[in-house]
Amino acid sequence: ETLCNQIAAGEVVERPAAVVKELLENSIDAGSRRITVSLLQGGRKEIRVVDDGEGMDADDALLALERHATSKIRTAEDLQTIRSLGFRGEALPSIAAVSRFELVTKTAETVAGTRIEMEGGVLRDVRETGCPPGTSVTVRDLFFNLPARRKFLRSVDTEMAHITDQVLRLALAHPGVHFVMSHGGRETHRFPPVKDLRERVGQVLGTATAASLAPFQLETPSFKASGVLSPPEAHRNSTRSLFVTVNGRPVKDRLLTHAVLSAYDSLIPRGKYPLVVLSLTLPSEEVDVNVHPTKREVRFRRPSEVTQGVKEALSRSLLRLQK
Ligand code: ADP
Ligand code: MG
Repeated sequence: ETLCNQIAAGEVVERPAAVVKELLENSIDAGSRRITVSLLQGGRKEIRVVDDGEGMDADDALLALERHATSKIRTAEDLQTIRSLGFRGEALPSIAAVSRFELVTKTAETVAGTRIEMEGGVLRDVRETGCPPGTSVTVRDLFFNLPARRKFLRSVDTEMAHITDQVLRLALAHPGVHFVMSHGGRETHRFPPVKDLRERVGQVLGTATAASLAPFQLETPSFKASGVLSPPEAHRNSTRSLFVTVNGRPVKDRLLTHAVLSAYDSLIPRGKYPLVVLSLTLPSEEVDVNVHPTKREVRFRRPSEVTQGVKEALSRSLLRLQK
């Protein structure tokens, strides 16, 4: 079992940023309004995510750490109706398998909270504890039991760049959630909750950048697309300026990237990229997020309808910009 977890962990947990992503997504799934991410040594020494979400009772907390126990896919129908961001029930056991892991959690209904300690996938301690409602997960010494993997961790700066990228992407996807991030005890980012995407873009990418962006929007019977985009002349050097989310989940999907870039076709030099924040919302039966272990790619039931729609929405907005 432990070995199985360690192997599976390799798929989900490639580096500290992957841990941050999974923990943040869980916090968002739990309806949190405020989430803090604290890191030591680029996440290799410690990653702690604290939220004020719905929390878990003792039984659920233990279940969450059992491989596949929490997978919400039980029937073929479940597959059609996966609503929440996560569904595989693999992240927590995988992370716990390759770290010194602590989970402290409490629901609003119970008096006492639960604290669970694991080491390399082995349960070390479970006890009641006093704590506020919500969940706190601490991941220490990532890959301490997999030296070969630990060797592959890069410099603190590189790991921090990956972590920051994940945090910014999730912050852009959830403007109403308060995010705070710190490294080595020093606050690096703080995004208080705001009403709309443009305000969040201002917090994350700067108010000058936000002011230069134009909105776009499209609603069809099968999906909704909205966001902001940069004028063609403000192009950048990398695809990292494309922020795409599907049902609240940041993705890197080839079809969607292509759809976005095709709206700029011939307006931007080859090898340059626009800044686009695109948020797609579809009923769960229109999209399959169960394609890749880290859920970066998605599969649409009507891909050409979505990509055409996205391209047209962006093109219209670009035309208005040029007038
Ligand atoms: P998944 O998110 O795919 O269900 P995870 O391993 O990430 O699998 O989480 C397992 C389960 O633990 C979740 O389904 C959820 O019920 C619970 N859980 C995890 N993190 C939190 C959290 N921060 N707040 C409340 N519940 C959580
Ligand atoms: Mg999850």
